[in-house]
Amino acid sequence: MDGVKSNKWNDESPADRAWKCPPDLSRAARSAEQDRAAGGRTNRLVGLDDGNISLASVELKVYAKTRRIRAYVRWSDHGKYPTKYVGEVDGRTRRQNLIQGWRQVIDRELLPPPDTSSRSWASSRAVRSIMRGNRGRDTRPELALRAAVRAHGLGYRVDARPLTESRRRADIVFVGPKVAVFCDGCYWHGCPEHYRPAHRNSEFWSQKIASNKARDQETDRLLADAGWDVIRIWEHEDPETAARQIAEVVMARRLRRPTAVEHSQSDRQPKPAH
Ligand SMILES: [Zn+2]
Repeated sequence: MDGVKSNKWNDESPADRAWKCPPDLSRAARSAEQDRAAGGRTNRLVGLDDGNISLASVELKVYAKTRRIRAYVRWSDHGKYPTKYVGEVDGRTRRQNLIQGWRQVIDRELLPPPDTSSRSWASSRAVRSIMRGNRGRDTRPELALRAAVRAHGLGYRVDARPLTESRRRADIVFVGPKVAVFCDGCYWHGCPEHYRPAHRNSEFWSQKIASNKARDQETDRLLADAGWDVIRIWEHEDPETAARQIAEVVMARRLRRPTAVEHSQSDRQPKPAH
């Protein structure tokens, strides 16, 4: 049925704001735009033939002849860019049209699904890296947090094991005062503000996130039992504010249980009595 929808652009081309990507948008912002429109990054995952994964994006195009906005979905596969036509979209803004496009991609299952059958799949380096939106171990929020903590003049260890008997690692460790800081990714740890359940493989993902959260709680308990203070920071939190909280806890613990170094310092320079 050709209704209002298909006659909409007969006289003029759709406005730029309905489809064009702002030229100054950074790579990260583009990816975040796709994540939002897709309803979460898990919906963008594509399984490649060799078992690897890729991230798909919806693109909007207008052809001068048709004057309609068409959505395509595209991903990278070892130097090639497979593209599928999704359909026409008719929203007033680019955001609405990306959402319309993604809804069709998901409903019609246009993307080859990743093979999540092996238990270790979600823990693989490639998957974690894609889901965290970065390539290496040090994510941007972690780096920002560490820089802010450094600005407080506090020494710490990075990605260290607070408990020798346990293999679990914390992102920032203050060994003397026994403070362990975890910078938790919003997706993997189920942040209440940003975690959105996946449409595809939803059972697999919800189980994965639930087990991550259970593991976090167990880690917190293990550390607390061993006399540690645990601070968990969401990756979306302001690093300066978080660093201030961390510094307060570290300083308070140092006063309560002075380290050997602080003993020798206070021998030379007695602190004024309160
Ligand atoms: Zn969050």
